[in-house]
Amino acid sequence: MKFVDVILPLPLGNTFTYGVPDEWSNLVQIGMRVIVPFGKKKMYTGIICLIHSNPPKHYKAKEIIYLLDEKPILRFPQLKFWEWISTYYQAYIGDVFKAAVPSGLKIESETQVRLNPDFDKELVLSEKEYSIVDTLADGKIKRVQELNQIVDQRNTMPILKILLEKGIVEISEELTEKYRPKVETFVRLTENAASEERLKEIFAAMNRAKKQLELLMKYLDYSKILSRNTTIEISKKELLEKSGATDSVLKGLVDKGVLEFYKKEVGRLDLSELRTEKPYPLADFQQKGLNEIKSQFLQNQVVLLHGITSSGKTEIYVHLIRQALEDKKQVLYLVPEIALTTQLTSRLKRIFGNKLGIYHSKFSDAERVEIWDNLLNNKGYEVIIGVRSSIFLPFRQLGLIIIDEEHESSYKQFDPSPRYHARNAGIVLASMHGAKTLLGTATPAIESYYNAKTGKYGLVELTTRFREMELPEIIVADTKDAYKRKQMEGHFTPILKEKIEKALSNHEQIILFQNRRGYAPYLECTSCAYVPKCVNCDVSLTVHKYLNKLTCHYCGYTDKIPEICPACNTPNLVNRGFGTEQIEQEVVEFFPQARAIRMDLDTTRSKKSYEKIIGDFESGDIDILIGTQMVTKGLDFERVSLVGILNADNMLHFPDFRAHERAFHLMAQVSGRAGRKNKRGTVILQTSNPKHPIIEQVLNNDYTAMYNMQRDERKQFRYPPYYRLIKITLRHRDFKVLDKAAAEMAKNMFKVFGERVLGPNIPMVSRIQNLYIKNILLKLELNASPDQAKNIIQTISNNILTTAGYKSVRISLDVDPL
Ligand code: ADP
Ligand code: ZN
Repeated sequence: MKFVDVILPLPLGNTFTYGVPDEWSNLVQIGMRVIVPFGKKKMYTGIICLIHSNPPKHYKAKEIIYLLDEKPILRFPQLKFWEWISTYYQAYIGDVFKAAVPSGLKIESETQVRLNPDFDKELVLSEKEYSIVDTLADGKIKRVQELNQIVDQRNTMPILKILLEKGIVEISEELTEKYRPKVETFVRLTENAASEERLKEIFAAMNRAKKQLELLMKYLDYSKILSRNTTIEISKKELLEKSGATDSVLKGLVDKGVLEFYKKEVGRLDLSELRTEKPYPLADFQQKGLNEIKSQFLQNQVVLLHGITSSGKTEIYVHLIRQALEDKKQVLYLVPEIALTTQLTSRLKRIFGNKLGIYHSKFSDAERVEIWDNLLNNKGYEVIIGVRSSIFLPFRQLGLIIIDEEHESSYKQFDPSPRYHARNAGIVLASMHGAKTLLGTATPAIESYYNAKTGKYGLVELTTRFREMELPEIIVADTKDAYKRKQMEGHFTPILKEKIEKALSNHEQIILFQNRRGYAPYLECTSCAYVPKCVNCDVSLTVHKYLNKLTCHYCGYTDKIPEICPACNTPNLVNRGFGTEQIEQEVVEFFPQARAIRMDLDTTRSKKSYEKIIGDFESGDIDILIGTQMVTKGLDFERVSLVGILNADNMLHFPDFRAHERAFHLMAQVSGRAGRKNKRGTVILQTSNPKHPIIEQVLNNDYTAMYNMQRDERKQFRYPPYYRLIKITLRHRDFKVLDKAAAEMAKNMFKVFGERVLGPNIPMVSRIQNLYIKNILLKLELNASPDQAKNIIQTISNNILTTAGYKSVRISLDVDPL
């Protein structure tokens, strides 16, 4: 008998061996999906990763229930890449599978529930139980997931369990395929009508049915059936819309046997914009940069393109992509988050037309499946622009990976595992394909610049802006001084206010950046210093005035804004700090003539809202754009003459070794948005600390000074790029248990690694969703073997987890944490 080893979408490090029944034994291939039983009653979709003839030694293998595919859904080197991610980032292979493949391709045994028609109607039910019974009263089967939505409960399982015990509901486990392709109705001539002669007869016979005749003529016209050999397919919807005919006229033609309907699968992705444009010719300095990149690629697998804002990096990418396509290779263009892609994708769409596929974070699962399918079956996409998870797509043959804004921290996946960095993983993926990687940014990550400077990567620098536009003038506004002189109005210094007024009167646009959302980061009682906190997490609640609520940015908990202090009953609660919402309110108050809009996580939750805000700003319907770091990203607006940074201080005073680097990135990037086309822009940078070295480096646009200073500090304090970090996080409900387990873990690590172990530390946010948190940090020399260290940590961690009392502690590893 044949056996297959299967990866299951569960947090498990092993693969599992199953027998292959005869009917599939000649069909199974690595990378195909199978449905297998697992545990007592569950069924999962697994991926075949090995085929062999060795039965397991210690147990009898179960058999696969079903072979789902006729050909593999993975391509070389995807499995190899999964294994790399799993080993390097210390993630279970099952978790990698889960992250890599859209859920639509992982059929689940979803529990289905229905009412037992014979249940005892006399039973007394709780309110929650009743609400479920009520929902099921129509007798239909519902999935647990649907029930959760209808009943508005996060988890109805515990209630269902009770109802099940009481014999009120029945549960059936059934396999359902989640993804169904979208099907549309199309119209065509029946076989009977499909000849010129027959059509003539039909026309003659239809003399009196004028409307039907008209519609038929129009159909023939649109479908070009008479003028060409191939027919253009036309959907029912399109035919009715274009012709203006009614449903019943069309039905008349169908009843007469002239036209017929047929169903067809259609793509959900918008391929309507197929017109293609030529890329712009490159300016001399850009052409020089492009040539340098190409020649560096001869020796280096990775090249860093360090080009100041507005140097036209995108145009250089476009030329490289065209080259790769000519070589019949595919291209992956990674962007940090969807926020960046609106302007970029429409530009690329105009150039690459339907060769361009977009894979972004707000796509539905069905849309993700479609992209997967398109790539797998070579249906046309040769360039994919996408967020970090697009490194998992089934590419045929990558020639180039572009990683735009490579310094962005959103390339790193935090939770859940696998905690990969898409830039670093992308470089590995590229090498598996024999492809090149181009990192691009105006403000390289310290690590990347270090790699370039030490010869690990190639380096190309662009110091000219397109059309030789000057960099903006940056003016530092001292808020401490302005407060002392009582010149502040709200959170605006006099100079910021004056510049805004001037820009408005010149009909220029303004971007205001504040790195906090909400109205105020927290409330504080001026009598007793009470600060309202989240009940689940160790963080203060953020004031959202518009919602009239306090909310937790970690778990989503919300509460009313109290009118009096719950601790001392005085009405002395005041807002501390400020977020974008408060700035918006002040803008409305101070500049009533201006049209302002806010862009942050709260105003861009839906798929199109971001695009709408950008669109309105681009078309000039908005004067002032207020936002969080979302507004600092690669946006390109022609009429922005002024950028205001409301408060640099909270970026600088953050207890993290990367805080200063990040503050520089953010301020340099947002400054780059000012004055991009016609005239030199202005940036007002408000801070109480004008002499801070980072402020001076931003002011002088001096990346090198920032780099040198950070590099020296990193070296001195033993941080990347000189050392490799591994963060071990322990979580538990009970602080005492956590405390002891963490101390034990650190002690055991210290025995092996000595001074390289830091902690356990209590992180800034020390409790999230009712779990207390402690961290241990390991700093490894670059020449030490990371694999060996990881194995030792896993052994120590397993020992903790098998110690009585510590079994429910959760331990996770983060390799190269950010
Ligand atoms: P960066 O990504 O380096 O900040 P962009 O690629 O966004 O810069 O380019 C800045 C602006 O200059 C964009 O509006 C872009 O269309 C324009 N631009 C850059 N290079 C060219 C070129 N060679 N021809 C025409 N327009 C260009
Ligand atoms: Zn919370």
